Amino acid sequence: MDAIDLKAKSAAHPTTTTAGEPFLLTPGPLTTSRRTKEAMLRDWGSWDGDFNAVTAEIRRKLVAMTGGGEAYDCVPLQGSGTYAVEAMLSSFLPRDGKTLVLMNGAYGQRAARTLDYLGRAYVPLDKGDYLPPLPEEVDGLLEADPDITDVFVVHCETSSGILNPLQGISDVVHRRGRRLIVDAMSAFGAVPLTVDEVPYEAMVSSANKCIEGVPGFGFVIARREALAGAEGRSHSLSLDVHDQWAYMKRTGQWRFTPPTHTVVAFHEALLQHEEEGGVPGRLARYARNKDVLVDGMRAMGFETLLDDAWLSPIIVTFFCPADPSFAFRRFYDEIKARGFIIYPGKLTEVESFRIGCIGQVDEGVIRDLLDAVREALRAMGVQECGPSRD
Ligand SMILES: *Cc1c(COP(=O)(O)O)cnc(C)c1O
Repeated sequence: MDAIDLKAKSAAHPTTTTAGEPFLLTPGPLTTSRRTKEAMLRDWGSWDGDFNAVTAEIRRKLVAMTGGGEAYDCVPLQGSGTYAVEAMLSSFLPRDGKTLVLMNGAYGQRAARTLDYLGRAYVPLDKGDYLPPLPEEVDGLLEADPDITDVFVVHCETSSGILNPLQGISDVVHRRGRRLIVDAMSAFGAVPLTVDEVPYEAMVSSANKCIEGVPGFGFVIARREALAGAEGRSHSLSLDVHDQWAYMKRTGQWRFTPPTHTVVAFHEALLQHEEEGGVPGRLARYARNKDVLVDGMRAMGFETLLDDAWLSPIIVTFFCPADPSFAFRRFYDEIKARGFIIYPGKLTEVESFRIGCIGQVDEGVIRDLLDAVREALRAMGVQECGPSRD
């Protein structure tokens, strides 16, 4: 392998990486700005007024981002995103209800598994790896089964990168008088989602996705009425969204030790999100990243899993080349040696890999990545990048 000067490479992007650190082209944790990292160089008392003010401001800004006004509130919760999803499911789905779980990948499946653990009734609509659940299908299922009380949907299914047709699904769910809960984990902050258009009961996201913070907590944004109605419903003390909400309202504090450094870093990330122009500003940068990435990869002969209509500005799945010289592990290592971390695929049927468009990266970084891909293919002796045809 040619010698690669990672220090020189990252020096070209001084606002993000430290010398020698690779870019994370992954859907969280992702590359954060220096400013966000530097916010963590201080210790905070979890009960202290200064820290409580940071928590309060984060909650306020997140509700503002949804256009939720007084009708909605935000409840942050310790743990990775999955903890917040489980907390949301256990707190907002009635114990005697029945949920239609829309699945087209790993995160929809994980929600169904969670409901198995919780012992809550559900029916799945499983579209496999790469097809969206369509509003008319949801409509048919709701019409046929009046026992369904709630519908769960993943906004961007990160396992393929597909952006599900949330608006159409929401319209159908509300026309049929059912409730909607949304896993907007990987899209919130970059793909518009406001409660005037999608009036969900609750939605969930986390610190280390499109707001560009570091991992450590998730947050549920829910209608205040639904929050009040969630009292006594969760199976779990630590995942009880109502209890966390009630305690925060009363004391301004988190119930149990908060990830203080993560919280202040997230606050700093939110300020940068505003400075970039909020959701539209972030969407514009990520969409540009996606376009440059997809055009560049296609020009080399790679194919995307999804048709253009379903591609998200969050993460893109590419088929592995059928060329016998290609092996994902070697490809990964070659690209990592050039300063970029990519992501293995999560499809059940075919070999694939994923490249994220989110985090503190711009099209200049994506162009450098494309150079690294070209060099990696040359080093491996890969001639053709098209996938296998069978
Ligand atoms: C990241 C993500 C989650 C949560 O995953 P964690 O690894 O627990 O943070 C849930 N749903 C979606 C769609 C995601 O992208």
